[in-house]
Amino acid sequence: MTKDILVIGTGISGLTFAIQVAQKNPDVTMVLISKSDLNESNTKYAQGGIAVVSNFKKDSFEKHIKDTLQAGAGSCNEQVVKFVVQEGYERLNELIRWGAQFDKKKQKLDLAKEAGHSENRIVHYKDQTGQHIQEALIEKIKTFPNIELLERHTLVDLITDHHSKQKANSCYGAYVISQEEEKIIKITAKITILSTGGAGSLYAHSTNPDIATGDGLGAAYRARVRMEGLPYVQFHPTALRPQVKGHTFLITEAVRGAGAKLFNTQGERFMLKNDPRAELAPRDIVARSIQREIEQQKEDFIWLDGSEIELKQWEAHFPTILQTCKSLGISLPKDPIPVVPAAHYFCGGIKVNEKSESQLKRLYAIGECSATGLHGANRLASNSLLESLVFAHRAAHDTLLELKKEFPKESFYKAIPKWDGDAYSNSTEIQSIKKYRLELQQLMTQYVGIFKTNKGLQIAEKHIDKIYEAVNTIYNNHKLTYGLCELRNMISIAYLITKQSQEITQNQGVFYNHDYA
Ligand SMILES: Cc1cc2nc3c(=O)[nH]c(=O)nc-3n(C[C@H](O)[C@H](O)[C@H](O)COP(=O)(O)OP(=O)(O)OC[C@H]3O[C@@H](n4cnc5c(N)ncnc54)[C@H](O)[C@@H]3O)c2cc1C
Repeated sequence: MTKDILVIGTGISGLTFAIQVAQKNPDVTMVLISKSDLNESNTKYAQGGIAVVSNFKKDSFEKHIKDTLQAGAGSCNEQVVKFVVQEGYERLNELIRWGAQFDKKKQKLDLAKEAGHSENRIVHYKDQTGQHIQEALIEKIKTFPNIELLERHTLVDLITDHHSKQKANSCYGAYVISQEEEKIIKITAKITILSTGGAGSLYAHSTNPDIATGDGLGAAYRARVRMEGLPYVQFHPTALRPQVKGHTFLITEAVRGAGAKLFNTQGERFMLKNDPRAELAPRDIVARSIQREIEQQKEDFIWLDGSEIELKQWEAHFPTILQTCKSLGISLPKDPIPVVPAAHYFCGGIKVNEKSESQLKRLYAIGECSATGLHGANRLASNSLLESLVFAHRAAHDTLLELKKEFPKESFYKAIPKWDGDAYSNSTEIQSIKKYRLELQQLMTQYVGIFKTNKGLQIAEKHIDKIYEAVNTIYNNHKLTYGLCELRNMISIAYLITKQSQEITQNQGVFYNHDYA
C-alpha cells in the first residue's frame, strides 16, 4: 500500500491533522491507523478541557503565556509558548465548526479554572471533554473519501533508509501489524506522521489506557530520531485508587477547584502544611505531597473529600466521576474517595520544530509523543489538547507544501523489502511477557517515579538491562506478538528516561531527585 501520507494514531492530533489536510486538498491520499479501535486514546479520557484565551475582556494572551512559562519552570521555549497561545482561539473555533460543542453559560462558553491558571479559560464539556472531541473528529473524518481508516493496526517499526538501502536520511512509511490478517504489512508513504500519544503504561498506576506504551517513541528511538525531555513525566495527584494495579480513573483537578479537600488516613488535611495554595497548588507539588504522605503513613492511598460540593453540582459538572464512584460503592458527596497519584502525561518526546517536523526527513510527530518546547519541565493543565490542535494545523500546512516537492518513483517504494518473513503470531502470547511488563512497571514506579535518587536510578538501569537481555532473547527466538511489540517499546523508553534522568542535576518542575533537594 502506498499513500501520500501515513498517519499513525487517531487521537486529537492525528485526526485534526488529517482533517486539516483533507479540507485544504481533498486529493491527497491518506491512511490512518490505530492500535485499538478508532476511539481508544488518551484524548478520549481527557476530562478537564482545553486551555484557550477566549474571554478577551478579562483574560489575555499575555496572562496565558505567563502562566505557561511559570508552570514550565524556566524550561519552555518562549517563542513556541507565544504562538501556541495566540493561535489557540482560531483552532478552537475550527473545532466548534467541525461539530464539537462545549458547555455554555448565558450563550457564552462556560470557562473553568484549573491549577496554575490565573484566569478562567478552560473550555470543557462536562467531565467528558475528550470523549466528546474524539467523537466529533471521528464523525468529521469519515466524510472524506480519500482517507482510509484502519483499526487494530499496530506500528512495529518505521521504514527508513536502513530498509531502503539509500543514503539520504528519510522516512518512507512503516511496518504494521494487521491484527485481523495476523501478519505484518508494509505501508509506504511519502510522508509519515507519528501521533501515537504517551507512555503512561510504563508505571504501576496510570491514568492512560493500557495501549499507551510509547510505541511511537520506541520506533523513533530505533530509527535514531532525537528525543528530548523524557524524564519530565507528569503524575496526576488524584486518580481513583484502582482495584488492581494498572489503568486507573482520573478525578479531575476541577473537583478540587470546586472545593474537595485532601486528608491522610489519620484525618489530617496535610496540604495546609505544604503550600499556601493547599489543594490548588500546582500538580507537581500536590503529587509529591501525596506521595510523601503515602510513604509516611504506610498506606497505599489518601482521601479526597468532596462532601462540601453539593450533589447537584456533582451531577451537572462531574457526572462520569459520580457514576464511576457509585459503581464502586462510593456514594458522593458523603463518602470520601480513595486516591493515588498516577502517571499522566509525557512532557518530553520526539524533538520537533515549529512545524512539527522531527529530525528524520519526512517524519513528523504531533501531540503527546512530541517535544515541542511548550511544556518545559511541567505542563500547565489543559495545555496539551491545545498543543495538539495548533501543531496539527501547522504540520498540515507544511506537509501540503512538502508534497509539492519531488519524491522517489513508485518503483522505489515497491522495492522496499517486506518485513522479514511474516513473522507474527496472534494466537500465542508468550507467557513471560506479562511478567516482564509488570516487573518493568514496578521498577519504574519505585526508582524512576515521582521521587528519584542517584542510587535508585543506577539500580533501575541495571535491572532494565537485564529485562532487555531476556526480552531480546525472546524476540530473537519467537515470532513477534502484540505484547512483545509493546514490551520492546516500553523497555526502550524506560531505558531512555532512566539514562536522561541521570544527566539531570537540578530539580525542576515535575523532576525530583532527593539527592539534589
Ligand atoms: C485521563 C486523562 C485526562 C486528561 N485530561 C486532559 C485535559 O483535560 N486537557 C488536556 O489538555 N489534556 C488532558 N490530557 C492529556 C491529553 O488527553 C493527551 O495529551 C492528548 O489527548 C494526546 O493526544 P494525542 O493525539 O497525541 O494521543 P492519543 O489521544 O493518546 O492518541 C494516540 C493514538 O495513537 C494510537 N497508537 C498508539 N500506539 C500505536 C501503534 N503502535 N500503532 C498504531 N497506533 C498507535 C492509538 O491507538 C491512538 O489512536 C488527559 C489525559 C488523560 C489520560
